[in-house]
Formats: sequence, C-alpha cells, structure tokens
Amino acid sequence: MQRNLIGGEWVDGPRASRNINPSDTRDLIAEYAQADGPQARAAVAAAREAFAGWSLSTPQQRFDLLDAAGSEILARKAELGDLLAREEGKTLPEAIGEVARAGAIFKFFAGEALRLGGECLPSVRPGVGVEVTREPLGVVGLITPWNFPIAIPAWKLAPALAFGNCVVMKPADLVPGSAWALADILHRAGCPKGVFNLVMGRGSEVGAVLLEDPRVDAISFTGSVATGQKVAAACVARMAKFQLEMGGKNPMVVLDDADLGVAVTAAVNSGFFSTGQRCTASSRLIVTEGIHDRFVAAVVERLKALKVDDARKPGTDIGPVVDEKQLAQDLEYIAIGQAEGATLAAGGEAVERNADGAPGHYLRPALFTETTPAMRINREEVFGPVVSVIRAKNYDEALALANDTPFGLSAGIATTSLKHAAHFKRHSQAGMVMVNLPTAGVDYHVPFGGRKGSSFGPREQGRYAAEFYTVVKTAYTAA
Ligand code: NAD
Repeated sequence: MQRNLIGGEWVDGPRASRNINPSDTRDLIAEYAQADGPQARAAVAAAREAFAGWSLSTPQQRFDLLDAAGSEILARKAELGDLLAREEGKTLPEAIGEVARAGAIFKFFAGEALRLGGECLPSVRPGVGVEVTREPLGVVGLITPWNFPIAIPAWKLAPALAFGNCVVMKPADLVPGSAWALADILHRAGCPKGVFNLVMGRGSEVGAVLLEDPRVDAISFTGSVATGQKVAAACVARMAKFQLEMGGKNPMVVLDDADLGVAVTAAVNSGFFSTGQRCTASSRLIVTEGIHDRFVAAVVERLKALKVDDARKPGTDIGPVVDEKQLAQDLEYIAIGQAEGATLAAGGEAVERNADGAPGHYLRPALFTETTPAMRINREEVFGPVVSVIRAKNYDEALALANDTPFGLSAGIATTSLKHAAHFKRHSQAGMVMVNLPTAGVDYHVPFGGRKGSSFGPREQGRYAAEFYTVVKTAYTAA
C-alpha cells in the first residue's frame, strides 16, 4: 500500500484504491491510500504551518530541492516511464518522453527560483523610489487529470515550490502511481515537512476540501470543463485565485498546397497518438477540396497500419483507452457520429483482448468523413482516438470552421504557403498555433494554455508561470 504524504509523514487512509493496468486489466499495479476530508484538511494545515519558513527560504535552497528532484526523475526515466505506461496506457516511448519532460521542468524551475527578479523605478514624485517585487501566494492546491500523470503535476508543482509556495496536491484517481513517485522523490530530496503534501482521493471529497478551505490561497486545476466550472464557482465564492486548463476540440487545417506526407503525419500523430487522450489532440481535420480525397485515403491507409496493443510492448503505436468508462464514452460518440450521418471511414471497433490475449480497453482509431460542423462529434470533446474530417471550399472557409468552436487550446495548419501560414497564426483563436506540426507536442520553457472555453487565468509553464504563482507588491520609499 502506497500512502499519502501529510506534514512530512506517510499516512494511511481510511480507504484504498486499486491502480489497474488498462493494457491488461488482470494486472494490479499497487493499492494507494485514499485520503478523506479530515486528512485533506490536515494536509492544508501542514502546508499553512510550513509556509512561514518556506516563503523565506533562499533561492539556493529552492534551486537545490528542484534540481535534485529533476536529476532523480531524469536518471529514473525508463523505470518511471514504465510505471506511467502501465497505469495510463500511453506507449512506452511516449511515457518515457513525458517523464523526461517532467525532469526538464524541475530543472527549468530550479533556475527560475534564482532568476525571479523585480523592477526598481524612479517615482514620478521627487525624492521617492519605487520597487516592484513578486512574493509567494501562500498555500496552493493542485488538482490534476489522468492523461499526463507526471508532466502536469510537475508543471504545477515545480513553479509553485520555486517561487516559495507550499503545496497540497490531489492527483487524478486513475493514475496515483506517478504522483506518488514524485512525492517520494521530493521527500527524499529533503523537502521540508509540510511544504509538499500529497493527498490521493476522490475529487468530490479531497478536491472539494481544497476548493473550500479558506487556508488554501489559490487553486491550479487541469481537467474537464464540467469540473473546471465547479472549481471556478467555488473559488469566486471565497475570492481565491484560480487557474483552469480544460478541454479542446482542436482543428488542423490542411490546404491544397500542403505537403501530403507532412499533413498526414501531423494529423495521425496529433489525432491518435497517446490514444487521442491529449487536450491538444486534433479532433477536427478541416481539409480543402483539392487535397481532400488524397488526404483521406492516405490517413486511412496509415491508420490501418497502426498497431494497437499493450502500451509497454515494443512496436505498439497506440495503447489502450485509460479505463472502461472512457472507452464507453468513446464508443458512445462513435455511435452518435454514425447516427448523425457521418461516414466511419476507418476503425471505431472496441478490441477486448490484445495480441497476447490479455484483456484491456482497446479501440481501433476511428476516422469519420463527410461530417458537418454542427455535428456533436465536431462540437464536443470526445477525448479518445476519434477524429472527424470536415470539407472546406478554400482557406477562408477553413479558417472560419477552425474558429467555429467553444474551445481554443491548440490549432494547426498544413500548408506550403507563407501567406496562409502567417494569416493563420494571426487569426486562429487558439492559445497555441502550429504550422506543419501536430497540434499536440509542446516545449516546456514557453507558455502553455488556451482561449475561450479551454482555459481561464494566467498561462502555465515557462517564465509566464510566475504570473500565477506569485503576487506583485509595489513599494514606495522616500529618500
Ligand atoms: P476531471 O475533470 O474528471 O478530473 C480532473 C481532476 O479534478 C481529478 O483530479 C479529479 O479527481 C478532480 N475532481 C473531480 N471532481 C472534483 C470536484 N468536485 N472538486 C474538486 N476536484 C474534483 O478530468 P479528467 O477526466 O481527469 O481529465 C480529462 C480532461 O482534462 C479532458 O477534458 C482534457 O481535455 C483535460 N485536460 C486539459 C489539459 C489542458 O492543459 N488544457 C491538459 C490535460 C487534460
């Protein structure tokens, strides 16, 4: 049984959850303690108590902690990647890549702890000086989703600690293993007691404490729109700072002048890799008439060749869906697409056993063609390997279709036209824009986030993370 970390102690919970491998549902990874409300409140109290010391820690102390954690994550990337692939179901190379990214994030924010500066300005009044500085917020509650079990905790945790905050983190119920490994690494790296607390447990119980406890100064949330709305309402009610990263319905525009190979590779990668379970996945391929049929034929051909199998097996292109609930949702949307009159051009069948006969939540990647923008499969986030093709007459119509969505996380275009690429970068209503690249797959040292219904609040990652994890003070001094 792996336990929660509260006030520097490993603590049992009143319940436990079983972490099951979606590639082989007979495989129990481990049992994880589930905290209850009182334990979540104890974690908040421990963080509050630790804040007085940690907020005054030197940048060197914070650098040392984050740098040591980053080094251990990188040194253990194969082992931690194996755990991640086993609990979430993305392929081993994807999982190892995610772990390496988490390590790099800790290293980046180790440096940011040293670089956090301010401004010193002359006042508009004679004989007065002005200083603008950034201070830590206090106790930050981190609530994370299951689809990036280590990278998302890392990109919230590292800046929170780098800038002197104390943390209570509640990871997603489906993937406690990677979050527990992070807690263990920080604990052994010498994180002072109470500075980082891990409380695994239910969103409605443990998550709710973080939203409601007045001793939590800010919440950073990544997950679904429905939960994000609850987070926002609870934070507004008590005027806590909050930041939300939520869903997407990301478009990729493919123009007649695109390099077909580049367009197909980008579309297949961003639509289907990681089993389509990325908030930045392309789920709408908006394709102009002149290339439409060639593009669809090439994508279908590529999909047929993809190996859907155990996430940890060499050669697997697409692992399983994360659990039976998500698989049911994917299949429901495939049925909805068919009922709406879309053509299922490839895949869409659940596969109950992998090539070795192990039971898992497998789904052949599904491509819909002849879809219209108003169909539910083009408006709602499916969060699985289910992608639609929408025909467009020309670039202008394609751009309008790309922006015709309540979401705005990532958007892509495949084109050899500099003019259209430049226009798309400027006029796409998304937080991140990709030219001749998949919509998913981003750097760790630059801002990440979206517009419209996808995100709320300051950007995450890179130097921009200081916007959320610090509060600005303006001080005036008479000479
Ligand atoms: P989810 O909203 O179900 O859960 C997210 C987290 O919120 C979990 O830890 C969950 O336990 C917790 N939670 C649930 N109910 C709660 C409540 N009432 N109070 C407090 N916490 C509560 O999302 P999920 O299914 O884990 O993740 C998938 C979603 O995440 C997708 O919509 C995806 O697009 C989104 N996502 C967005 C980004 C981004 O950066 N924009 C990145 C990854 C995933």
